[in-house]
Amino acid sequence: MPKIHVLPEHVANQIAAGEVVERPAAVIKELVENSLDAGARRIEIEFREGGRSLLRVEDDGAGMSAEDAVLALERHATSKIAQAADLDRLTTFGFRGEALPSIASVSRFLLRTRPPESETGTEILVNGGKVVHVRECGKPVGTSIEVAHLFHPVPARRKFLKSDATESAHITQCVRLYALAHPRVAFTLIDDGRIVFRSPKCPSLAERVGEIFGRQLAEPLLPIDVGEPGLRLHGLIGRPGISRSNRHETITFVNGRPVDSRALNFSLAEGYQESIPKGRYPLAFVFFECDPAAVDVNVHPAKREVRFRSENTVRSFVVRSVLRTLRALGGGAAPAPAAVSAFALAESGAKFGEWAAPPALERRGAALAPASPPPPATSSPGSLPAAAPAWKLLGQAHGTYSVFETPAGLVLLDRKAAGERIWFERLQDQFRSGAVPSQRLLLPVPVELDPIASALLRDRREFLQAHGFEIGEFGGRFFRIQAVPAWMEPSEAEAFLRDLLGAMRDGQLGEKNLDLAREQLARLAAARAARPDALPGEAQIRRLLAELFATRSPLASPAGRPTFIEIPHHELARRFEKG
Ligand code: ADP
Ligand code: MG
Repeated sequence: MPKIHVLPEHVANQIAAGEVVERPAAVIKELVENSLDAGARRIEIEFREGGRSLLRVEDDGAGMSAEDAVLALERHATSKIAQAADLDRLTTFGFRGEALPSIASVSRFLLRTRPPESETGTEILVNGGKVVHVRECGKPVGTSIEVAHLFHPVPARRKFLKSDATESAHITQCVRLYALAHPRVAFTLIDDGRIVFRSPKCPSLAERVGEIFGRQLAEPLLPIDVGEPGLRLHGLIGRPGISRSNRHETITFVNGRPVDSRALNFSLAEGYQESIPKGRYPLAFVFFECDPAAVDVNVHPAKREVRFRSENTVRSFVVRSVLRTLRALGGGAAPAPAAVSAFALAESGAKFGEWAAPPALERRGAALAPASPPPPATSSPGSLPAAAPAWKLLGQAHGTYSVFETPAGLVLLDRKAAGERIWFERLQDQFRSGAVPSQRLLLPVPVELDPIASALLRDRREFLQAHGFEIGEFGGRFFRIQAVPAWMEPSEAEAFLRDLLGAMRDGQLGEKNLDLAREQLARLAAARAARPDALPGEAQIRRLLAELFATRSPLASPAGRPTFIEIPHHELARRFEKG
């Protein structure tokens, strides 16, 4: 029989550390939260080598007495709750009393702290969970914690750390979130001795967003502030028409805590449904406030997720708030870009019954591989031509569609999707041949980026250069677009560059696989380059059809959407109830 024994304290702490501190950014999160809980007005965060060799958080908050400092390093020691019922009315970030002992168990941990009522400070050094010394020290009021050699005592965990650049990106993002949530606290972030940002106390959220994300991004944001009994949504949101290809700038807080909430993400997207294209994300820096008892933050040890007791109430409130704010702009939301309606129709088409999509489209992914041979022409519905089809043009509908009579029935062509397919293959050919025509801009476009995007841009500048861009650097996070690919509208240069950097942050356009990166670039570029005329002449439409059917995969856009759909005779007959 194996003998049961209670784990030594430092082993139990190391196990808890696995949950609370999975990576350096998680340590920063815990320490910054403690500083905020302690009422700090100024917080300085420094790290080296992605946090691997050093993490330091220093604040001017309430500090701790010698006695409290010793206690703070014990498990489940907290000044923030006393009984389970307190969990229902949390107003502080911390409450588990786990962070400090966990971190101290997997690092070399130096705590120095002094409360205002004491003349001297206390210094405690802990190594791998074992206290090395406790002694008096000179120290201004506040607390400073240095975490060195993170995960040294647990080499297995160290292996899971990603590159320094990745870990430092996580730390930066984490500090940004807390800085946004607390504009009135001064934040400084230092990476390997370099200041990433230094933001003094700001009078407003808008100021803080400008400090951290750049004025260019902050300027076109709209204030939102909607309250209903027990609920409030306030902050800044993007104007209609401004969108991102990823969610990095859809930032949400619940009762001051940065969270990733499906309910909030969904409802924000829903609120923007008429204002930005499908599949894109709104800009939002928003704070949702509700009764702390209506939200459960105790779902995950690192507290990233929250659960609402009544998710539907939250969702409908957020959608209403966004719609009300956007509509108050007057003139309603901007018209939906062509791609939205095309996709919407393709989807609603399915609701009508068996509208025949060409058979190859049933496997959506099939058309994605550009190198695949053209789909075989089939005889049912029987009108998939090998060359440009001689369909009879009936007219134009809803901006992006052309309607045709065909031998097998009726065809609706989505000129935007068709244009994307044509551009996708054209750009891929250019990329492969290495001859990418570029145009020099008369007026270079200035771009201010956040630290992560700046680093990505520096890393991938050569790749972009090889594909038609020329971007000059003006120190720190200031850049200038000097030349763009020939296909591009210069006015779209900045938005497109931001999309590319967003895609890179999501792991696309990576350095490892050049072919894949080019394909991803071509797909993003094609979506921009295809700009169908609202009122094309017949000759133009004929050329479009000829070019579409000369591509390797004419049936689908590079994103896998149909380029056209066909309603066959039998479907018409069925719908008109003819026998
Ligand atoms: P929790 O935050 O869940 O209470 P922690 O392990 O993070 O647990 O911290 C334990 C206790 O140490 C806190 O409750 C607080 O009293 C004290 N403490 C931690 N960091 C600071 C700080 N920067 N300033 C003042 N007190 C702190
Ligand atoms: Mg804490």
